[in-house]
Amino acid sequence: MKNVVLLGPPGAGKGTLASRLVQAFGFLHVSTGDMLREEVAKGTPLGQLAHGYMARGELVPDEVILALVRQRVDARKGVLFDGFPRTVAQAEGLERFTSVDVVVFLEIGQEEVVRRLSSRRVCGACGAVYNLVTQPPREPGRCDRCGGPLVQREDDRPEVVARRFEVYMRDSAPLVAYYAQRGLLRRVPADRSPEEVFQAVAQILR
Ligand code: AMP
Repeated sequence: MKNVVLLGPPGAGKGTLASRLVQAFGFLHVSTGDMLREEVAKGTPLGQLAHGYMARGELVPDEVILALVRQRVDARKGVLFDGFPRTVAQAEGLERFTSVDVVVFLEIGQEEVVRRLSSRRVCGACGAVYNLVTQPPREPGRCDRCGGPLVQREDDRPEVVARRFEVYMRDSAPLVAYYAQRGLLRRVPADRSPEEVFQAVAQILR
């Protein structure tokens, strides 16, 4: 099975796409954002270290992220990397312990991601993701899956969103050229419904 990287700005739909791809293809899902949020929720030393960076919209240091990913990767399974790598140093570090076969780049403009992030809500209990405009829950404020309370992520507040986008442009956008040079990049327009994006990516992976 292939190792796949999902690349794209915050709000491009990486997490939503990842859940569907995991269901359809059985990948091992490695989302560094989800892993860090779990550490923060548990109050571990790593969580305490990461929280300040995350709340400001900055990146957690590369060595911390690489150690976290390395212990999760399983060479027997195809891995779907979501939100990782986010810097060229992380991409180089990843190559030292596993290979990357395809990089799916979700292309979308800043205006659309800002709109999406401001209306994104997540379940405080199970982590399911909603959008108040395009994918609202059946009952306002309650998770369809588990009935948990829907909340706004701390880093989806407008000031932090602007910073996350700047950091993306500075640190993560260079990965597009990095993977294009290696012949691995597949561009997918992401300004469409989750179903349309999923179909386009599924076709690439098949
Ligand atoms: P995400 O859920 O992918 O948007 O990640 C939320 C936050 O976690 C980011 O804004 C960063 O602070 C941190 N984070 C997640 N993944 C990484 C990564 N690969 N490198 C550095 N920081 C990360």
